[in-house]
Amino acid sequence: MKKTALITGISGQDGAYLADFLIKKKYKVIGTDRRSARSVNWRLRRLKIENKIIFEEMELGEIYEIQRVFKKYKIDEVYNLAAQSFVGTSFNSPINTSNITGLGTLRILETIRNINKKIKFYQASSSEMFGEVLEKKQKETTPLNPQSPYAISKVFSHYLTQNYRNSYGMFTTSGILFNHESPLRGEEFVTRKIIIGLIKVLKQDINHFELGNLYAKRDWGFAKEYIEAMWKMMQKKKPDDYVIATGKTYSIKDFINIATNYLKMDVKWVGKGLNEKLINNKDKKIIIKINPKFFRPSEVNILTGDASKARKFLGWKPKTSLKKLISIMIDQEIKYYDNL
Ligand code: NDP
Ligand code: GDP
Repeated sequence: MKKTALITGISGQDGAYLADFLIKKKYKVIGTDRRSARSVNWRLRRLKIENKIIFEEMELGEIYEIQRVFKKYKIDEVYNLAAQSFVGTSFNSPINTSNITGLGTLRILETIRNINKKIKFYQASSSEMFGEVLEKKQKETTPLNPQSPYAISKVFSHYLTQNYRNSYGMFTTSGILFNHESPLRGEEFVTRKIIIGLIKVLKQDINHFELGNLYAKRDWGFAKEYIEAMWKMMQKKKPDDYVIATGKTYSIKDFINIATNYLKMDVKWVGKGLNEKLINNKDKKIIIKINPKFFRPSEVNILTGDASKARKFLGWKPKTSLKKLISIMIDQEIKYYDNL
């Protein structure tokens, strides 16, 4: 019997890769988006799977839309990937973020509890929940210390996921994923912003671009591998929580250095603090400068995950180094850029 999976956030990075993965596993895939998302399914188009998905409108703020979709199909697995997912925006729109990233999860869990408790549920939890970290390497038992409305909303959803498991015996699992990137990453996130910026400078479309804190450190993995971990969690006999990470951490500046090296750019860093700049060694022109508008009111300085539990119980481990990931992102970006 063909399994049916419902993916919320089908138009996002993970939604696209997960849909591709599940279609290859012969799932029937229902992808939900909000009305405005229809015209921006560029990710599904790039993966050439747009016509293999059943689309439904499902705004996470509307419980009636959620109930309608859950009554319409016999669903086996739900992957809740939809969220206001950008930390920066969550400081400007904390109420909308809480409503979608936090309460949206509750609306789905309540719908499942009322309609069919056998439906399995995956929650897209985040390393941002560890925030100002309380342990050097963060694992499932590390205390949470969120630093943004986004992270606080994810903590709310994470605890609800555990609570519905414990209270109602539902199969609710939570993947605590560290940052994962790809050519399909949103342009507002720092990795893709850097790669697009550098390519535009090289192609002389822009002179320079601006960033915020260059010294924050992240544990970056490849999104395509991370969605496989989500599926593995859902195939276990018992639901649980798992950290998914590479265990290695790099600063934004490290990321830029690896990218410029791969692009064979002759550059150097000059200045300090707000005056720090990346310049072109040949003509001394500025390529990157700092704009405090990209600083966050409270920052998460460093994240490093410990995915030993996933390695042991899911047989999952990361395969792609940051250097390799950056080369994949750059190669794809140049390819699409040249075809514009
Ligand atoms: P994206 O930002 O690429 O995708 C988010 C999705 O949520 C989009 O499809 C978006 O639709 C949808 N969405 C936003 N608001 C609503 C709403 N009100 N109703 C319905 N849908 C909505 O995120 P990713 O794919 O990168 O991440 C997937 C999930 O994993 C997210 O929950 C994210 O917070 C979480 N996560 C991601 C990490 C990462 O590094 N990528 C790390 C840890 C957790 P639209 O196209 O209309 O905007
Ligand atoms: P996050 O870890 O989910 O917040 O992912 P982001 O890619 O948005 O940000 C990662 C880190 O990069 C954070 O510590 C940001 O402060 C830092 N950063 C520095 N400059 C920028 C920028 O211009 N845009 C973004 N998005 N992040 C930046």
